Amino acid sequence: MLLPGRFGRARILPSSLKLRDPSSPSFGHGREKGSEAVSPVVIVWSCPLPVDAYAAAGRGVEFPRPDCPACGGPMTLWSGYRRHVRVAGRCQKIFVPRLRCAPCRASHALLPAFVLAWRLDVADVVGAVIGQVAGGACGVRPAAARAGVPYTTARGWVRRFRCRALELGAGFAALAVELGGDTVSPVADAGGFALGAIGAAFGAAASLPGWLAAGAWRFASSVSGGRLIASPGRRGTP
Ligand SMILES: [Zn+2]
Repeated sequence: MLLPGRFGRARILPSSLKLRDPSSPSFGHGREKGSEAVSPVVIVWSCPLPVDAYAAAGRGVEFPRPDCPACGGPMTLWSGYRRHVRVAGRCQKIFVPRLRCAPCRASHALLPAFVLAWRLDVADVVGAVIGQVAGGACGVRPAAARAGVPYTTARGWVRRFRCRALELGAGFAALAVELGGDTVSPVADAGGFALGAIGAAFGAAASLPGWLAAGAWRFASSVSGGRLIASPGRRGTP
């Protein structure tokens, strides 16, 4: 099962979570207040494929066709673009389709959950670094070395995660409760709180088919609409 829902640009709305078909995308982003229907949003779907397989399949991936996150209308595949992802130090090009809604004419990028919006490195790599550093296992430098990414890149991830930690912690903690998982209370260390909440939400979701294999960080990418560590107000092709 997928756990669709939505993290707003400024706050998390776990109460909007619903259980849906596993092939449907998880969290899209609603229209911003005051924006018109043409404002694109990012939709993240729970792609079960390994990155290599997804990259090799190109346009041949069986993409889901979710309803429009803006108006609920039916959407069709409509163009797309290629972007890079980096796995184990190697860059690969992947195809990201765009879906277009006939009723409101908005188009939305459909990202696979192994990707984080606007980040080159895959969610698992970013998450591993964040998990080690925010979890207190080590500093940024050794975590970056282990992940094979530049120190400054890893430092940027951790900083952004810490900036959002309270917000993420609250959102994932609420989601965990909603899914019947453990209760996670805020602790002095916001990063630790966020990690604990992501773990609790994933633990609850992992009992549902499809999520265990995806892993915690693809889950976190899905739930956050790819914006797990996105900068506020970030726009453009994800
Ligand atoms: Zn629409």
